[in-house]
Amino acid sequence: MTITVINPADASVAGHAPHLSAAEVGAAIDRTSAAFPRWSRMLARERGELLRRWFELVRADRRLFAETMVRENGKCLSEALGEIDYGLGFIEWYAEEARRVYGDTIPSHAADAAVMVIKQPVGPTAAITPWNFPFMMITRKVATALAAGCTMIIKPSEETPLTAYLLLDYARRAGIPEGVFEMVTGDPKEIGALFTGDERIRKISFTGSTAVGKLLASACGQGLKKMTLELGGNAPFMVFDDAHVEDAVAGLVAAKLRNSGQVCISPNRIFVQEGLHDRFVAALAEKVAQIRVDQGMQDEFVVGPMINQAGFDKVAQLVAEAREQGARVALGGRPHAKGGLFHEPTILTGLHDGMRLAHTEIFGPVFAIYSFEDEAEAIRRANDTEYGLVAYAYTRDLGRAFRLSQRIEAGMVILNSGSVGTASVPFGGVKQSGYGREGSHHGIEEYLDVKYVLMAGLQH
Ligand code: ADP
Repeated sequence: MTITVINPADASVAGHAPHLSAAEVGAAIDRTSAAFPRWSRMLARERGELLRRWFELVRADRRLFAETMVRENGKCLSEALGEIDYGLGFIEWYAEEARRVYGDTIPSHAADAAVMVIKQPVGPTAAITPWNFPFMMITRKVATALAAGCTMIIKPSEETPLTAYLLLDYARRAGIPEGVFEMVTGDPKEIGALFTGDERIRKISFTGSTAVGKLLASACGQGLKKMTLELGGNAPFMVFDDAHVEDAVAGLVAAKLRNSGQVCISPNRIFVQEGLHDRFVAALAEKVAQIRVDQGMQDEFVVGPMINQAGFDKVAQLVAEAREQGARVALGGRPHAKGGLFHEPTILTGLHDGMRLAHTEIFGPVFAIYSFEDEAEAIRRANDTEYGLVAYAYTRDLGRAFRLSQRIEAGMVILNSGSVGTASVPFGGVKQSGYGREGSHHGIEEYLDVKYVLMAGLQH
């Protein structure tokens, strides 16, 4: 059986991927498990060299990867190339980090003994990834796992498996063996159950919705598997009246329109201080009005289609509902005249926190603008969400920047910038946005167990 992959820009067929049976997925898990002893005992330097080779082969063909992503995901070429550089950064970073898995020695509590703490790979691992970053979501999990000495089987999203299988192909060409990195696609629920139910898999890394994350976490509870969960967000973006307005507008537009708004760290609630509100909205509308909506196979930055009909309907309904409840439209406000899965970049004002828009991950090119009076109110409302992935703020007041960094309930606080990710920083959330971190030296710890070794009897 095969999965047909649809290009969201024009509903054409972008390609095909295998729809594997449970027995085939089971065989891939067997290989992932069988490869672990050898891979984990390899020198870290050798593992790093294979990762480095993979990095170099993919980098040489980054255009091929980018075009594949444009076809199956709908993002524009410049963004796809940007994602590839971001995603390659994880392979490069962890190729180096493999050699820096340090332990401790602890002053002994007994006269004839020594105490060591060593870090060892947790075992064979599995991962499930979403469609919004078909390349980077995979490299940041696989590179980390492999660097730590774990093997990994991955189920990419069935919406975007083409980039994923291309990555696998390049990994094989780089010499990363069968079993060390495996890939399966088919029925997500069935594959999820095979991963969570297999006692040989010691850890699962998941990026996706909070609902599916919770299902997986409860299934993993049965086998006490470790997890990294990067789930939904409801990011506040606060603009205080002392902000540099042009910078704030530019940061907001970049963060909001990335992947046409289909990003877990997309600014979902934009809080603008009262005195600045009208000027800010006018500047924002002027900038967003210049951005075209189109299919992505071109050099210009464009806002693309939503990934599928369900994604499009959600955005269109949220906007229509807010309008019925009194929202004002500063720009856009409707499905795009192009038809299909395209929606107009939209700016809504006059919103209040009770609207569904304020509690739902919009996942589309919609700027939802709320106004606030003072800092205490901004912090209270920013935190008034079950999620806690990222929060953004623009202010030039150093004291306020510090207070925000302390009081905002989120895994990441980004001040005076709209840009979050790179391989060297810890990415992840709190509350219903999940737990665990990806990237940086913290990321590799998620794939390591701490082992305490006592060596006594040394004086005899
Ligand atoms: P999104 O809204 O981003 O598609 P999902 O959580 O539905 O978020 O999907 C993220 C990933 O989880 C995808 O690879 C999807 O196929 C997978 N997935 C969806 N449902 C399940 C499930 N019940 N068990 C395991 N994986 C699932």
